[in-house]
Amino acid sequence: MNKIKQLQEIINSSNNIVFFGGAGVSTESGIPDFRSESGIFKSLEKYGDTPERLVSHSYYLEHTEEFFKYYKDCLIFPDAKPNPAHYALARLEKESKLKAIITQNIDGLHQKAGSKHVLELHGSVYRNYCEICKKYYDLNSVLESNSIPHCSCGGIIKPAVVLYEESLDMNILNKSIEYIQKADTLIIGGTSLVVYPAAGLINYFNGKNLVLINKSKTDYDQLATLVINEAIGETLDKIKF
Ligand code: ZN
Repeated sequence: MNKIKQLQEIINSSNNIVFFGGAGVSTESGIPDFRSESGIFKSLEKYGDTPERLVSHSYYLEHTEEFFKYYKDCLIFPDAKPNPAHYALARLEKESKLKAIITQNIDGLHQKAGSKHVLELHGSVYRNYCEICKKYYDLNSVLESNSIPHCSCGGIIKPAVVLYEESLDMNILNKSIEYIQKADTLIIGGTSLVVYPAAGLINYFNGKNLVLINKSKTDYDQLATLVINEAIGETLDKIKF
């Protein structure tokens, strides 16, 4: 049977789908993965350091101005639009088939497409808080600042994005585990499953169908019910609801 037909049948027969997505979900919206080969090349050439270093907590503390330069240049894409993957997942949620989206992306595109139950493991560029008084600021406040964004109280406005060396929000992680444990189908897309905590989360899945949609192979392919090595947007666009 062809793989799209197989995916269609899995979705038709599922009532509790959870989607787990990585950077590959957003590449079709023109957001490059800053950890990809070209992303690393750009960061080394232009900023003299690796992406892991440039978006680490210690770099933020020691080189705040450079941090924001790189962050604004390589991690924020305010004009990006959702692609067919985001819209298909939003439709599945509307039809009550999909219960939650767990994402490693910080771009807010699932919400832009209309999804409501989005668990953002790595936070979001759309939420920013003063380090001192905790006042909320939107994305524009960060984008419009000349170098380091400052609150009216003088504190630095820090993006609610999980930096390297920082721990994940346990509340969001535990909610993600709960959803995965209850799911009958887990669709994983746009991630090679090497970044923590992606790999660990799969172990909580006890349902019927594990579907992996990723351009390249992953270490978990042999565990999956269905593996599709294609772009996620193109793939989900072929599914009928
Ligand atoms: Zn403040």
